Amino acid sequence: MTDKQFPNPEEVQKEFEDFVKQRFGGSVQVFTNHVNSFDEKEDEQSPTEDIEETSFNIDFNLKPKEVKDYLDQYVIKQDEAKKALSIAICDHYNHVKNCLNGTYDQEYTYAKQNVLVLGPTGVGKTYLVRKIAELIGVPFVKADATRFSETGYVGANVDDLVRDLVNQADGDIEKAQYGIVYLDEADKIASPQNSQGRDVNGRGVQFGLLRLMEETEIDLRSGNDMQSQMQALMEMQSGKSSKKIVNTGNILFIVSGAFTGLDEIIRKRLRTTTIGFNTSSEQAQLSAEELYSNVTTQDLVDFGFEPEFVGRLPVRVSCETLKTNDLYHILKDSKGSIINQYKYSFRSWGIKTEFEDSALHRIADLAHRENTGARGLMTICEQALRIFKYELPSTLVKDFKINKDLIDNPTTSLRQILSQEKPSIEYETEIRTFETSFFEKHGIKISFDKEASALLVGHSIDKKLPISILCEELLQSYEHGLKLVSENINQQDFVLNKEVINNPKIVLEKLVKDSYVSRSQSNELKIH
Ligand code: ADP
Repeated sequence: MTDKQFPNPEEVQKEFEDFVKQRFGGSVQVFTNHVNSFDEKEDEQSPTEDIEETSFNIDFNLKPKEVKDYLDQYVIKQDEAKKALSIAICDHYNHVKNCLNGTYDQEYTYAKQNVLVLGPTGVGKTYLVRKIAELIGVPFVKADATRFSETGYVGANVDDLVRDLVNQADGDIEKAQYGIVYLDEADKIASPQNSQGRDVNGRGVQFGLLRLMEETEIDLRSGNDMQSQMQALMEMQSGKSSKKIVNTGNILFIVSGAFTGLDEIIRKRLRTTTIGFNTSSEQAQLSAEELYSNVTTQDLVDFGFEPEFVGRLPVRVSCETLKTNDLYHILKDSKGSIINQYKYSFRSWGIKTEFEDSALHRIADLAHRENTGARGLMTICEQALRIFKYELPSTLVKDFKINKDLIDNPTTSLRQILSQEKPSIEYETEIRTFETSFFEKHGIKISFDKEASALLVGHSIDKKLPISILCEELLQSYEHGLKLVSENINQQDFVLNKEVINNPKIVLEKLVKDSYVSRSQSNELKIH
């Protein structure tokens, strides 16, 4: 045996990659099955490194109405979904609290409140769940069901969801065990009974998820991940095994999708049973949302889900399609409105923006035509405002109004805004003209340095005052003061810096005082 220590997994991986590169060139690549492969990862972290077990506790004491009130600040409409989710969340986290406090009465069987959210794209399904996770302070993971394969050889393995929760919890396994997994596009893993080529993989993924939703223990060492395998090898060699196990019993699963076609299955059933509806013409007029709120387990089984899978999703809610007016309210009233994001971006460049109501209505109207729910808002705003984001930071524009015209004709509006602005060269000329006239009047040469000039331009724009007036105000006593300084220290040229613009009086007082000090010192020298 040598003294050389066994390299750590990252080093082994790196060496292996270098070897492959040398041997085969760029045509062969090494892929590692890293769990951070989901859409909505927040931090780049190594999946299972530095995992610490901490004693996580949850201080949950919210009531369903309080959860809904919180959601109302961000999510517009979706009232029924907000209520149902608020109840499910309170039930679940009260149970979690009881488990953690040791006050859970084992006599009662608690059935987990996993949720199925039905609804089209961009209506706030993910947003609702993300805000809930933020409110409670538990880790949140979102993934598309289509990413998974039964085995994990082709796509990701469903167990990776749990590993990713641990990442989101900064390696805190205990905390990850109370997190929320949000699985979108779940309708894509349905395998309808009547289809010819039954989607075996979809069923497999459903069973994989079912296992997680019930209760299972996941070893954080991924089978396919080279780094993890090396770690396992090292542990085998050293005889020390540090198994990292996550129990999924208290992880909340929220499964969602658009479920296109499910409305027809429900409508068909309602035609044969008439529960709740009087006439077939009434049934024909029911919207998809109204139909979704009547969804039964059998409808979902007919859609292609395994009864056991559906059985693990007892809470079912549907989200409404958003109308133009809803989109307007999202812009106007939601705390998370993208308008705030735009204002913030422009503010970083010192540019104030004002969105007029006409602009908000127009954006909502155009976004509605995109048919992608609230996602369309971002598309329209980007189309109209991107050019302003690019151009304005390099100009002297300090504020602009966004109205309907600007949304409809961004290029023309930009041109108009820029044509009203004085080019920076004109400001420069005004500054130089003031310097010259100061010299002509008082026989003293002043020049503003770069920073002082930029500040002058900024003040001139903000206060809407010409440079000459601004300078006269600022340098009121300078004519007299600089003359004294000039006599005391025999200096005729003065460079004025930003301090002069910010504190003209203080700077001048100091200059004069210092000039008297140096005059008396030079006199003393002469006497000696
Ligand atoms: P999906 O229903 O497809 O999960 P998301 O929740 O991801 O849609 O919505 C995308 C974005 O659109 C959200 O991040 C949010 O900014 C905005 N949004 C969607 N629906 C709403 C809503 N009802 N209220 C406020 N904002 C919303």
